[in-house]
Amino acid sequence: MSSSTVNPASVPAAHSFKLTSDQEQLRDLIRKFASREIAPHVMKWDEASEFPAAVVKQLGEMGLMGIIFPEEYGGGGLGYTDYMLAVEELSAVDGSIGIIVASHNSLCTNHIFLAGNEQQRRKYVPRLAGGQWLGAWGLTESGSGSDAAGARTTAVREGDHWVLNGNKIFITNGHYADVAVVIAVTDKAAGTHGLSAFIVEKGTPGFRSGRKENKLGLRASDTSELIFEDCKIPAENLLGKEGEGFVDSLRILDGGRISIAALALGIARGAYDAARKYVKERRQFGKAIADFQGIQWKLADMATQLDAARLLTLRAAAMKDAGEKTTLASAMAKLHASEVAVRICDEAVQLHGGYGFIKDYPVEKFYRDVKLCTIGEGTSEIQRLVIAREILK
Ligand SMILES: Cc1cc2nc3c(=O)[nH]c(=O)nc-3n(C[C@H](O)[C@H](O)[C@H](O)COP(=O)(O)OP(=O)(O)OC[C@H]3O[C@@H](n4cnc5c(N)ncnc54)[C@H](O)[C@@H]3O)c2cc1C
Repeated sequence: MSSSTVNPASVPAAHSFKLTSDQEQLRDLIRKFASREIAPHVMKWDEASEFPAAVVKQLGEMGLMGIIFPEEYGGGGLGYTDYMLAVEELSAVDGSIGIIVASHNSLCTNHIFLAGNEQQRRKYVPRLAGGQWLGAWGLTESGSGSDAAGARTTAVREGDHWVLNGNKIFITNGHYADVAVVIAVTDKAAGTHGLSAFIVEKGTPGFRSGRKENKLGLRASDTSELIFEDCKIPAENLLGKEGEGFVDSLRILDGGRISIAALALGIARGAYDAARKYVKERRQFGKAIADFQGIQWKLADMATQLDAARLLTLRAAAMKDAGEKTTLASAMAKLHASEVAVRICDEAVQLHGGYGFIKDYPVEKFYRDVKLCTIGEGTSEIQRLVIAREILK
């Protein structure tokens, strides 16, 4: 077996890439919910940059804010394949909802679930999984994005407290979150083993959200600064081992990248579906433009790219569900899904001609929303670095 690919033997043999009837039901339920409760409001939320708080509450009631966590912690008890389906379905209607759900589940809550002690799990996971609380995850700073280990936010131990100082930027759900997982430097000399993770609750003195970004796309999702000014948190809010916060973050991102692949897949599918419908309706030169071979080839490429992205994402999800390490598979899925999703959305606008540039048609929003997928949770360049590191081992 060449070491330059994911070993197919690590994909569970029984995984046929066919959905179970439970998964089909879940997909149909979310699809109906999205068309009823989300679709009618998408453009209003987008134009006003309005956070869809009521829908997020409903998603909590449906179990989608804790879909991957065990039932005993208030979660849905489902796996990454189900989670991926949920994020795809929501994002096919509104990527903003997809990213809200993704960062809450696979970044904030999952960090607490994976690295937390039993007391922390019992305290936070049920509230987050049930959707009563919203979570955020803060790694990025103005001076450290791709080079996340270069963070400057500090946490200093003082008796039975930690004192945090610094700023995080671009944090999804930052303004609305009830709790944030924050990575801070606890030992500058120790490099990547000198960063630790902390749980910070909203309302803690010295902790507030700052600038709310005005964005190109995903405008109904919140992207905000988190500010820490002599913010004192109890010693027990250290999450995981001291010095292991960055290393744990990389593990968390292995799961998170599957959800960004699903976000890309959903947005691209929304754009593809809209384009497929449009080319059958739009007539030029006396016939539907779908009758031109040049148009058919574009759609054929879009459909093929979409399926390839789905298969890579399903593989990463299946491996995660089987307890495999998914660093390589997640990076490949995220890289490929996000890159082809950008191309598919571009082509969907092209297939609409001038109407693709107009807000009466959904493709201009898909085109704006999708770009985040090649940037968030590690840019395409960083995914290539991760893939190269894994295949050159
Ligand atoms: C809408 C949105 C939501 C986000 N949500 C969150 C969140 O919830 N939590 C969080 O912590 N962060 C979040 N982020 C931050 C996001 O993860 C970072 O923006 C991303 O990792 C890139 O970092 P940067 O913006 O500093 O770009 P930079 O790291 O400055 O990169 C600039 C360019 O240089 C390239 N580059 C950098 N290093 C290399 C290299 N070694 N080799 C080749 N090319 C390189 C990059 O690929 C990129 O093209 C979010 C960002 C956005 C826009």
